[in-house]
Amino acid sequence: MGAFRRCPECEEHTFTRCARCEAPLCRRHQPRAQARCRACEREYQESALLRNRMKAVLGLPPAALATTAVFAILLPFGAGIGGAIIVAAAAALAGSGTAATVFRAVDRSARAQFLREHGLPLPEARVVRLLPRG
Ligand SMILES: [Zn+2]
Ligand SMILES: [Zn+2]
Repeated sequence: MGAFRRCPECEEHTFTRCARCEAPLCRRHQPRAQARCRACEREYQESALLRNRMKAVLGLPPAALATTAVFAILLPFGAGIGGAIIVAAAAALAGSGTAATVFRAVDRSARAQFLREHGLPLPEARVVRLLPRG
């Protein structure tokens, strides 16, 4: 926390609130549709590292499988050096296409999960501020 300079407008002229952490946001910092406040978006970016590891685990076996399958199917047609190149290219294409599909699915579900999150515990300082002054 604290990576973003606090915007006084956000606190004083609250236009909307982050749908995830409920931080007050001014008109200028209003998140785009299907997006959250800067702090939440940063958290999401930071979790990308974990997602990339998950992608490798989930995406590589089916990609390897697709590559092998296309190789096996096309190999009989790959006569001569030209044919072999085409078979190899097709297999590589099938492999990377499969991986890309898995990667997209991982990103989509991670994003959906992120947008579903709501009502994180408020930081202590904010709780104190919300108490009626007296
Ligand atoms: Zn602001
Ligand atoms: Zn937020």
